[in-house]
Amino acid sequence: MDTKMISLSKIEPKKGMELITKDIPTIKDDEILVKVLAASVCGTDVHIYTWDNWAQNRIKNIPQTMGHELAGEVVKIGSRVNTVKIGDIVSAETHVVCNECEFCLTGRAHICKNTSVLGVDRDGAFAQYVAIPAANAWKNDPSVPPEYLSIQEPLGNAVHTVLAQDVIGKTVAVVGVGPIGIMAVDVAKAVGASRVFAIDVNEYRLNLAKKIGADVCLNALNQDLVQQILDFTDGSGVDVVCEMSGNGIALNQAFDYLKLGGHISILGVPTKKIEIDVANHIVFKGITIHGITGRKMYETWYQVKGLIQSGKLHLKDIVTHKLHYTEYQKAMELMESGNCGKIVLMFNQEKTND
Ligand SMILES: [Zn+2]
Ligand SMILES: [Zn+2]
Repeated sequence: MDTKMISLSKIEPKKGMELITKDIPTIKDDEILVKVLAASVCGTDVHIYTWDNWAQNRIKNIPQTMGHELAGEVVKIGSRVNTVKIGDIVSAETHVVCNECEFCLTGRAHICKNTSVLGVDRDGAFAQYVAIPAANAWKNDPSVPPEYLSIQEPLGNAVHTVLAQDVIGKTVAVVGVGPIGIMAVDVAKAVGASRVFAIDVNEYRLNLAKKIGADVCLNALNQDLVQQILDFTDGSGVDVVCEMSGNGIALNQAFDYLKLGGHISILGVPTKKIEIDVANHIVFKGITIHGITGRKMYETWYQVKGLIQSGKLHLKDIVTHKLHYTEYQKAMELMESGNCGKIVLMFNQEKTND
């Protein structure tokens, strides 16, 4: 096997990402080496690429390989690994957890206090090879194309958010239909929500939401959003809000059109503190707020697998761009424009034009 590989890495503390040659990672006894086939682009990658405040404070190990949402083939296993074998097609839970803290020991490893994240705190998957702990490998059905397998990690975020409360027969508003919001729309429809509202300020994304099956698509910029949703719901508002935007105005509007006793699950990460009316929006409405981080390990992964097997998800529509890794610049520009669903970079394959 070669000793060098191609990697898309952050090499300087400023905007950008570079295609560089570096050593193929070595693995520890409990790790595996994965030959990456597909790696999808996450909002986190865009934060690191643009080098915003969050990235500047979080990324400690430059140069670092970016990317964390992957599907690939196991090519090497550590001496203590017996759960995965060479040739398996795997994806990865990107939260590498300690398995020792209170949260890990009580089935809540997604909030492990010693979490390190692939592609953020350790070298990631935008490369020909990535090393991951065997415990984080998720064995895939190899008949599913790798571009769809690679999006299971963010799909897990969508599943975790939507299924944090009962949505069967309920009205659900998804606020912010970027890639994870689009998946949330799809999941809510697949599991039997009665009516799904998609809300965004980007027409491309609203159209995509429509295509996936959102019942009502509303542009938050040019309409009286709250009143419209109340009109669509006989004045009572929606049962469930999935907040994916991280936007303070959008969040406050959501409290306005959330039904009494409703549920709001928040995945979107605001960049600053948001003022909310605790008395009127939370206490007197008797609502429940769920903070959503990561995926339940590994309940969410089983749900994702089952939903993919059900054939009810529109993976072909969700993945709007399948690009060769050398087209990473285009991928980042598309992500910054917002005019895309999920973008997947293909590795270890010839460049094609589809
Ligand atoms: Zn991600
Ligand atoms: Zn832990």
